[in-house]
Amino acid sequence: MEPLVDSYGRRIKSMRVSITDKCQFRCTYCMPAEGLPWLKRSEILSYEEITRAVRIAASIGIEQVRLTGGEPLVRRGIMTLVGSLARHLAAGALDELTLTTNGSQLPKYAHELAGHGVRRINVSLDTLDADKFRAITRWGELDKVIAGIDAAQAAGLKVKINAVALKGVNEDEFAALIEWAHGRGMELTLIEVMPLGDVGEGRLDQYLPLSIVRARLAERFTLTDIDYRTGGPARYVNVAETGGRLGFITPLTHNFCESCNRVRVTCTGTLYMCLGQEDAADLRTPLRASEGNGPLHAAIEEAISRKPKGHDFIIDRRHQRPALARHMSVTGG
Ligand code: SAM
Repeated sequence: MEPLVDSYGRRIKSMRVSITDKCQFRCTYCMPAEGLPWLKRSEILSYEEITRAVRIAASIGIEQVRLTGGEPLVRRGIMTLVGSLARHLAAGALDELTLTTNGSQLPKYAHELAGHGVRRINVSLDTLDADKFRAITRWGELDKVIAGIDAAQAAGLKVKINAVALKGVNEDEFAALIEWAHGRGMELTLIEVMPLGDVGEGRLDQYLPLSIVRARLAERFTLTDIDYRTGGPARYVNVAETGGRLGFITPLTHNFCESCNRVRVTCTGTLYMCLGQEDAADLRTPLRASEGNGPLHAAIEEAISRKPKGHDFIIDRRHQRPALARHMSVTGG
Protein backbone atom coordinates (compact mmCIF):
# COMPACT_ATOMS: atom_id res chain seq x y z
CA MET A 1 0.00 0.00 0.00
CA GLU A 2 1.33 3.45 -1.00
CA PRO A 3 1.08 5.98 1.81
CA LEU A 4 -1.15 9.01 1.19
CA VAL A 5 1.24 11.82 0.36
CA ASP A 6 0.19 15.24 -0.88
CA SER A 7 1.92 17.37 -3.48
CA TYR A 8 4.08 19.02 -0.79
CA GLY A 9 5.37 15.68 0.43
CA ARG A 10 3.25 15.63 3.58
CA ARG A 11 2.14 12.18 4.66
CA ILE A 12 -1.60 12.36 5.44
CA LYS A 13 -2.45 10.06 8.35
CA SER A 14 -5.21 11.70 10.28
CA MET A 15 -8.88 12.14 9.44
CA ARG A 16 -11.31 14.14 11.55
CA VAL A 17 -14.84 13.03 10.97
CA SER A 18 -17.70 15.27 11.99
CA ILE A 19 -20.72 13.08 12.60
CA THR A 20 -23.34 15.72 13.34
CA ASP A 21 -23.83 19.46 13.00
CA LYS A 22 -25.86 19.51 16.24
CA CYS A 23 -24.56 20.62 19.61
CA GLN A 24 -26.28 21.49 22.88
CA PHE A 25 -23.95 24.46 23.32
CA ARG A 26 -23.77 27.69 21.33
CA CYS A 27 -20.22 28.85 22.09
CA THR A 28 -19.91 32.53 21.29
CA TYR A 29 -16.88 32.03 19.04
CA CYS A 30 -18.31 28.97 17.26
CA MET A 31 -21.96 29.68 16.44
CA PRO A 32 -24.31 32.66 16.30
CA ALA A 33 -26.68 33.07 19.29
CA GLU A 34 -29.67 31.83 17.33
CA GLY A 35 -27.76 28.70 16.23
CA LEU A 36 -27.55 27.53 12.64
CA PRO A 37 -30.25 25.86 10.53
CA TRP A 38 -29.87 22.11 11.17
CA LEU A 39 -29.13 19.93 8.20
CA LYS A 40 -31.71 17.50 6.84
CA ARG A 41 -31.28 13.90 7.90
CA SER A 42 -30.94 12.73 4.30
CA GLU A 43 -27.94 15.03 3.86
CA ILE A 44 -26.06 13.47 6.75
CA LEU A 45 -23.99 10.34 6.28
CA SER A 46 -25.44 7.28 7.95
CA TYR A 47 -23.29 5.25 10.35
CA GLU A 48 -22.87 2.62 7.65
CA GLU A 49 -21.65 5.27 5.22
CA ILE A 50 -19.22 6.75 7.75
CA THR A 51 -17.88 3.30 8.60
CA ARG A 52 -17.39 2.50 4.94
CA ALA A 53 -15.65 5.80 4.26
CA VAL A 54 -13.31 5.23 7.20
CA ARG A 55 -12.61 1.67 6.08
CA ILE A 56 -11.63 2.86 2.62
CA ALA A 57 -9.57 5.77 3.99
CA ALA A 58 -7.78 3.37 6.34
CA SER A 59 -7.07 1.01 3.45
CA ILE A 60 -5.18 3.79 1.67
CA GLY A 61 -3.18 5.10 4.60
CA ILE A 62 -5.32 6.95 7.16
CA GLU A 63 -4.16 5.70 10.57
CA GLN A 64 -5.95 7.91 13.04
CA VAL A 65 -9.62 8.87 13.16
CA ARG A 66 -11.03 11.53 15.45
CA LEU A 67 -14.81 11.88 15.76
CA THR A 68 -16.05 15.41 16.19
CA GLY A 69 -19.01 17.63 15.39
CA GLY A 70 -21.15 19.53 16.38
CA GLU A 71 -21.08 17.42 19.48
CA PRO A 72 -20.35 13.81 18.52
CA LEU A 73 -21.86 12.33 21.68
CA VAL A 74 -25.32 13.79 21.03
CA ARG A 75 -25.94 11.85 17.84
CA ARG A 76 -28.43 9.09 18.57
CA GLY A 77 -26.95 5.61 18.78
CA ILE A 78 -23.39 6.95 18.75
CA MET A 79 -22.02 3.81 20.39
CA THR A 80 -23.13 1.79 17.36
CA LEU A 81 -20.77 3.86 15.24
CA VAL A 82 -17.96 3.69 17.80
CA GLY A 83 -18.44 -0.10 17.96
CA SER A 84 -18.20 -0.44 14.17
CA LEU A 85 -15.11 1.75 13.95
CA ALA A 86 -13.58 -0.09 16.89
CA ARG A 87 -13.56 -3.24 14.77
CA HIS A 88 -11.11 -1.51 12.40
CA LEU A 89 -8.99 -0.71 15.44
CA ALA A 90 -9.09 -4.24 16.71
CA ALA A 91 -8.21 -5.55 13.24
CA GLY A 92 -5.20 -3.24 13.10
CA ALA A 93 -6.56 -1.24 10.12
CA LEU A 94 -6.56 1.89 12.30
CA ASP A 95 -4.00 2.86 14.93
CA GLU A 96 -6.21 5.17 16.87
CA LEU A 97 -9.84 6.08 17.34
CA THR A 98 -10.47 9.14 19.42
CA LEU A 99 -12.87 12.04 19.81
CA THR A 100 -13.25 15.69 20.65
CA THR A 101 -16.19 16.46 22.89
CA ASN A 102 -17.68 19.16 25.06
CA GLY A 103 -17.66 16.54 27.82
CA SER A 104 -21.25 16.83 28.96
CA GLN A 105 -22.27 13.33 27.81
CA LEU A 106 -19.22 11.56 29.20
CA PRO A 107 -20.89 10.39 32.41
CA LYS A 108 -23.13 8.32 30.11
CA TYR A 109 -20.52 7.13 27.61
CA ALA A 110 -16.99 7.21 29.07
CA HIS A 111 -17.04 3.60 30.15
CA GLU A 112 -18.28 2.29 26.82
CA LEU A 113 -15.78 4.41 24.91
CA ALA A 114 -12.95 2.88 26.91
CA GLY A 115 -14.43 -0.58 26.37
CA HIS A 116 -14.33 -0.02 22.60
CA GLY A 117 -10.61 0.75 22.69
CA VAL A 118 -10.68 4.54 22.79
CA ARG A 119 -7.60 5.51 24.81
CA ARG A 120 -7.59 9.29 24.85
CA ILE A 121 -10.07 12.07 24.24
CA ASN A 122 -10.00 15.84 24.01
CA VAL A 123 -12.46 17.81 26.10
CA SER A 124 -13.11 21.45 25.22
CA LEU A 125 -13.30 23.64 28.29
CA ASP A 126 -12.50 27.35 28.28
CA THR A 127 -13.13 28.30 31.91
CA LEU A 128 -13.58 26.88 35.41
CA ASP A 129 -16.02 29.61 36.40
CA ALA A 130 -19.62 28.36 36.16
CA ASP A 131 -21.09 31.76 35.25
CA LYS A 132 -18.47 32.41 32.63
CA PHE A 133 -18.97 28.90 31.30
CA ARG A 134 -22.65 29.62 30.87
CA ALA A 135 -21.87 32.94 29.18
CA ILE A 136 -19.39 31.40 26.73
CA THR A 137 -21.45 28.33 25.85
CA ARG A 138 -24.78 30.19 26.24
CA TRP A 139 -26.49 26.93 27.26
CA GLY A 140 -23.90 24.81 29.05
CA GLU A 141 -23.51 23.76 32.68
CA LEU A 142 -19.97 23.48 34.01
CA ASP A 143 -20.89 20.81 36.59
CA LYS A 144 -21.89 18.40 33.86
CA VAL A 145 -18.59 18.82 32.04
CA ILE A 146 -16.58 18.33 35.23
CA ALA A 147 -18.64 15.21 35.97
CA GLY A 148 -17.84 14.07 32.43
CA ILE A 149 -14.10 14.55 32.97
CA ASP A 150 -14.35 12.66 36.27
CA ALA A 151 -16.12 9.81 34.49
CA ALA A 152 -13.57 9.73 31.67
CA GLN A 153 -10.63 9.55 34.05
CA ALA A 154 -12.37 6.92 36.17
CA ALA A 155 -12.84 4.86 33.00
CA GLY A 156 -9.10 5.08 32.33
CA LEU A 157 -9.30 7.51 29.39
CA LYS A 158 -6.44 9.95 28.99
CA VAL A 159 -7.99 13.42 28.85
CA LYS A 160 -6.54 16.51 27.19
CA ILE A 161 -8.23 19.83 27.79
CA ASN A 162 -8.51 22.32 24.92
CA ALA A 163 -9.28 25.94 25.76
CA VAL A 164 -9.83 28.74 23.27
CA ALA A 165 -8.12 31.95 24.41
CA LEU A 166 -10.70 34.72 24.46
CA LYS A 167 -9.81 38.35 24.98
CA GLY A 168 -11.31 39.79 28.14
CA VAL A 169 -13.18 36.54 28.87
CA ASN A 170 -10.81 33.85 30.14
CA GLU A 171 -7.47 35.61 29.83
CA ASP A 172 -7.15 35.95 33.61
CA GLU A 173 -7.66 32.22 34.09
CA PHE A 174 -4.91 30.44 32.21
CA ALA A 175 -2.66 30.00 35.24
CA ALA A 176 -5.57 28.49 37.18
CA LEU A 177 -6.48 26.24 34.24
CA ILE A 178 -2.87 25.03 33.98
CA GLU A 179 -2.69 24.23 37.70
CA TRP A 180 -6.07 22.53 37.66
CA ALA A 181 -5.42 20.43 34.53
CA HIS A 182 -1.89 19.44 35.49
CA GLY A 183 -3.01 18.73 39.04
CA ARG A 184 -5.40 16.15 37.57
CA GLY A 185 -2.77 14.65 35.28
CA MET A 186 -4.21 16.23 32.12
CA GLU A 187 -2.48 18.19 29.38
CA LEU A 188 -3.85 21.59 28.52
CA THR A 189 -3.71 23.15 25.06
CA LEU A 190 -4.57 26.76 24.39
CA ILE A 191 -5.99 27.68 20.98
CA GLU A 192 -6.22 30.98 19.12
CA VAL A 193 -9.70 31.88 17.96
CA MET A 194 -10.05 31.46 14.20
CA PRO A 195 -12.19 33.60 11.89
CA LEU A 196 -14.54 30.78 10.84
CA GLY A 197 -18.14 31.74 10.14
CA ASP A 198 -20.14 34.76 11.18
CA VAL A 199 -20.85 34.54 14.91
CA GLY A 200 -22.39 37.99 15.27
CA GLU A 201 -19.37 39.43 17.11
CA GLY A 202 -16.27 41.07 15.70
CA ARG A 203 -13.37 38.62 15.82
CA LEU A 204 -11.04 41.38 16.93
CA ASP A 205 -13.07 41.59 20.14
CA GLN A 206 -12.40 37.87 20.78
CA TYR A 207 -8.89 37.38 19.45
CA LEU A 208 -6.07 37.08 21.94
CA PRO A 209 -2.69 36.24 20.38
CA LEU A 210 -1.05 33.35 22.22
CA SER A 211 2.33 35.08 21.89
CA ILE A 212 1.00 37.53 24.50
CA VAL A 213 -0.45 34.76 26.66
CA ARG A 214 2.82 32.86 26.63
CA ALA A 215 4.82 35.95 27.62
CA ARG A 216 2.46 36.56 30.56
CA LEU A 217 2.59 32.93 31.66
CA ALA A 218 6.39 33.03 31.53
CA GLU A 219 6.33 35.67 34.28
CA ARG A 220 4.74 33.12 36.58
CA PHE A 221 5.90 29.73 35.34
CA THR A 222 9.15 28.32 33.98
CA LEU A 223 8.26 27.25 30.45
CA THR A 224 10.68 25.10 28.46
CA ASP A 225 10.11 24.29 24.79
CA ILE A 226 10.05 20.57 24.16
CA ASP A 227 10.08 18.43 21.02
CA TYR A 228 7.02 16.44 22.03
CA ARG A 229 4.59 16.12 19.07
CA THR A 230 1.23 14.45 18.73
CA GLY A 231 1.05 14.86 14.96
CA GLY A 232 -1.25 17.86 15.41
CA PRO A 233 -0.52 21.56 15.11
CA ALA A 234 0.26 22.15 18.82
CA ARG A 235 3.73 23.10 20.01
CA TYR A 236 4.49 22.17 23.60
CA VAL A 237 6.31 23.44 26.64
CA ASN A 238 6.98 21.82 29.98
CA VAL A 239 5.80 23.78 32.98
CA ALA A 240 8.44 23.24 35.68
CA GLU A 241 6.20 24.27 38.60
CA THR A 242 3.44 21.76 37.76
CA GLY A 243 5.48 19.12 35.95
CA GLY A 244 2.82 19.12 33.22
CA ARG A 245 2.70 19.83 29.49
CA LEU A 246 1.13 22.90 27.95
CA GLY A 247 0.34 23.15 24.23
CA PHE A 248 -0.18 26.19 22.03
CA ILE A 249 -2.16 26.05 18.79
CA THR A 250 -1.38 29.26 16.96
CA PRO A 251 -3.05 29.33 13.53
CA LEU A 252 -2.78 33.13 13.50
CA THR A 253 0.50 34.10 15.14
CA HIS A 254 2.34 31.11 13.67
CA ASN A 255 0.90 28.34 11.59
CA PHE A 256 2.62 25.00 11.23
CA CYS A 257 1.05 23.96 7.95
CA GLU A 258 4.29 22.42 6.72
CA SER A 259 3.75 19.53 9.11
CA CYS A 260 -0.03 19.22 8.63
CA ASN A 261 -0.99 15.55 8.31
CA ARG A 262 -4.77 15.81 8.47
CA VAL A 263 -7.96 16.19 6.51
CA ARG A 264 -11.53 16.74 7.68
CA VAL A 265 -14.80 15.15 6.59
CA THR A 266 -18.04 16.93 7.45
CA CYS A 267 -21.19 15.08 8.47
CA THR A 268 -22.50 15.54 4.91
CA GLY A 269 -19.45 13.81 3.49
CA THR A 270 -17.53 16.85 2.24
CA LEU A 271 -13.78 16.42 2.57
CA TYR A 272 -11.88 19.59 3.44
CA MET A 273 -8.19 19.33 2.86
CA CYS A 274 -7.50 22.45 4.98
CA LEU A 275 -9.47 24.00 7.83
CA GLY A 276 -8.66 27.43 6.49
CA GLN A 277 -9.46 27.05 2.78
CA GLU A 278 -12.66 26.60 0.75
CA ASP A 279 -11.50 23.86 -1.60
CA ALA A 280 -13.26 20.58 -0.85
CA ALA A 281 -14.26 17.27 -2.38
CA ASP A 282 -17.64 15.58 -2.29
CA LEU A 283 -17.34 12.05 -0.92
CA ARG A 284 -21.06 11.49 -0.44
CA THR A 285 -21.83 11.17 -4.15
CA PRO A 286 -19.26 8.44 -4.84
CA LEU A 287 -20.18 6.78 -1.55
CA ARG A 288 -23.87 6.63 -2.48
CA ALA A 289 -23.38 6.02 -6.19
CA SER A 290 -21.51 2.77 -6.04
CA GLU A 291 -21.17 -0.28 -3.86
CA GLY A 292 -17.63 -0.68 -5.11
CA ASN A 293 -14.86 1.11 -3.26
CA GLY A 294 -13.05 2.39 -6.35
CA PRO A 295 -14.86 5.74 -6.84
CA LEU A 296 -14.49 6.78 -3.20
CA HIS A 297 -10.90 5.65 -3.07
CA ALA A 298 -10.16 7.72 -6.21
CA ALA A 299 -12.02 10.77 -4.82
CA ILE A 300 -9.97 10.74 -1.60
CA GLU A 301 -6.66 10.38 -3.41
CA GLU A 302 -7.51 13.09 -5.92
CA ALA A 303 -8.57 15.46 -3.11
CA ILE A 304 -5.37 14.89 -1.17
CA SER A 305 -3.32 15.69 -4.25
CA ARG A 306 -5.00 19.13 -4.11
CA LYS A 307 -4.31 19.74 -0.40
CA PRO A 308 -3.19 23.38 -0.23
CA LYS A 309 0.12 24.45 1.19
CA GLY A 310 -1.54 26.22 4.09
CA HIS A 311 -3.97 28.81 5.33
CA ASP A 312 -3.47 32.44 6.15
CA PHE A 313 -5.93 33.59 8.76
CA ILE A 314 -5.71 37.25 9.68
CA ILE A 315 -7.62 39.09 12.37
CA ASP A 316 -6.92 42.79 12.55
CA ARG A 317 -8.80 46.05 12.17
CA ARG A 318 -9.19 45.52 8.43
CA HIS A 319 -9.98 41.78 8.71
CA GLN A 320 -12.74 41.37 11.24
CA ARG A 321 -15.12 39.52 8.95
CA PRO A 322 -14.95 35.72 8.72
CA ALA A 323 -12.10 34.42 6.54
CA LEU A 324 -14.47 31.61 5.59
CA ALA A 325 -18.26 31.50 5.69
CA ARG A 326 -18.46 28.05 7.25
CA HIS A 327 -18.52 27.65 11.01
CA MET A 328 -16.28 25.33 13.00
CA SER A 329 -19.38 23.38 14.04
CA VAL A 330 -19.90 22.56 10.35
CA THR A 331 -16.34 21.60 9.45
CA GLY A 332 -15.70 19.81 12.72
CA GLY A 333 -13.04 20.97 15.16
N1 SAM B 1 -18.43 19.72 20.43
C1 SAM B 1 -17.09 19.25 20.42
C2 SAM B 1 -16.23 20.08 21.35
O1 SAM B 1 -16.75 20.91 22.06
O2 SAM B 1 -15.03 19.85 21.39
C3 SAM B 1 -16.45 19.12 19.06
C4 SAM B 1 -16.67 20.19 18.05
S1 SAM B 1 -16.03 21.78 18.46
C5 SAM B 1 -16.42 22.67 16.99
C6 SAM B 1 -14.29 21.48 18.38
C7 SAM B 1 -13.38 22.54 18.90
O3 SAM B 1 -13.43 23.67 18.06
C8 SAM B 1 -13.70 23.03 20.30
O4 SAM B 1 -12.52 22.92 21.08
C9 SAM B 1 -14.04 24.48 20.10
O5 SAM B 1 -13.65 25.24 21.21
C10 SAM B 1 -13.23 24.81 18.87
N2 SAM B 1 -13.70 25.98 18.10
C11 SAM B 1 -14.93 26.25 17.63
N3 SAM B 1 -14.94 27.41 16.94
C12 SAM B 1 -13.68 27.89 16.97
C13 SAM B 1 -13.05 29.04 16.42
N4 SAM B 1 -13.71 29.94 15.72
N5 SAM B 1 -11.72 29.20 16.67
C14 SAM B 1 -11.01 28.28 17.38
N6 SAM B 1 -11.56 27.17 17.91
C15 SAM B 1 -12.88 26.98 17.71
